[in-house]
Amino acid sequence: ATPTAIMVATGVGANNGVLIKGGDALERAQKVKYVVFDKTGTLTQGRATVTTAKVFSGMDRGDFLTLVASAEASSEHPLGRAIVEYARHFHFFDDPSAAKDDQRHGKESKPSWLFDVLDFSALPGKGVQCFVHGKRILVGNRKLLTENGVMIPSEAEQFVTELEESAKTGILVAYNNALLGVLGLADPLKREAAVVVDSLRKMGVRPVMVTGDNRRTAQAVAKEVGIQDVRAEVMPAGKADVIRSFQRDGSIVAMVGDGINDSPALAAADVGIAIGAGTDIAIEAADYVLMRSNLEDVITAIDLSRKTFSRIR
Ligand code: ADP
Ligand code: MG
Repeated sequence: ATPTAIMVATGVGANNGVLIKGGDALERAQKVKYVVFDKTGTLTQGRATVTTAKVFSGMDRGDFLTLVASAEASSEHPLGRAIVEYARHFHFFDDPSAAKDDQRHGKESKPSWLFDVLDFSALPGKGVQCFVHGKRILVGNRKLLTENGVMIPSEAEQFVTELEESAKTGILVAYNNALLGVLGLADPLKREAAVVVDSLRKMGVRPVMVTGDNRRTAQAVAKEVGIQDVRAEVMPAGKADVIRSFQRDGSIVAMVGDGINDSPALAAADVGIAIGAGTDIAIEAADYVLMRSNLEDVITAIDLSRKTFSRIR
């Protein structure tokens, strides 16, 4: 392709909200054999909502939700935000005027209905931990609890499994080293996701899904979207290894992602594609940015490259 053809293609991309960072990236996209999609926020809307909250310990439901929300209040994770939102609605259901009062405190200060927490830490790929009323609270996946020596009763384990089999993420809550309850969160697929996966396959490209979420939820979501090759329970650093494993035989690999977690994989991929609504770090690491955050533009990007570089017109 001539420099003019590349310039024209970059312009066409820009008009369609596909930002291309350079001619090399544009050229590589035509040869893509695998497209690896992150799950949360890429295939899914990234707007999780709590669908279930089950208390196993006899604690009052409102207290349980306030406690969990207090732990997640400093979290920037979509799951954490969804939990705080749910608890807020529960808390203010009967008293809308209190909600207005609460908002007046502004974003900087902690809402008055939450408990004070100490030593908050976010554990990527696992959850959060902090201390409330002098006792440790853990909110996250099985791994987080087991690593911290919390026993998961079979009743709770079974409940989490059921949530996962219906494509939901089960979040466990432990307080003072005992299991307190379980939350179920749903994050719907983007409307175009299944069609895009199908189109890719018809173009001879193999779709793959990679996620930090557990195997059962990942499988259920993958089934909905039509992806067979699923890599689940991948810790943030492991996503780049997944990319490299596909590259080993010389295949050209694209990665589509939105999160901080995805940036090493976006950089490792031959073609890194960031969702425009994603984090700045992901956008910086990528070769392409989809400004409309619409997965159809993955197809646009590959098509554009093929049309620009193929000899047969
Ligand atoms: P993904 O690759 O799907 O974006 P992450 O690596 O961000 O997933 O998270 C993996 C898992 O870690 C989540 O499915 C959840 O179980 C747990 N997790 C991470 N952050 C939180 C949080 N703030 N609260 C509860 N659970 C969390
Ligand atoms: Mg994501």
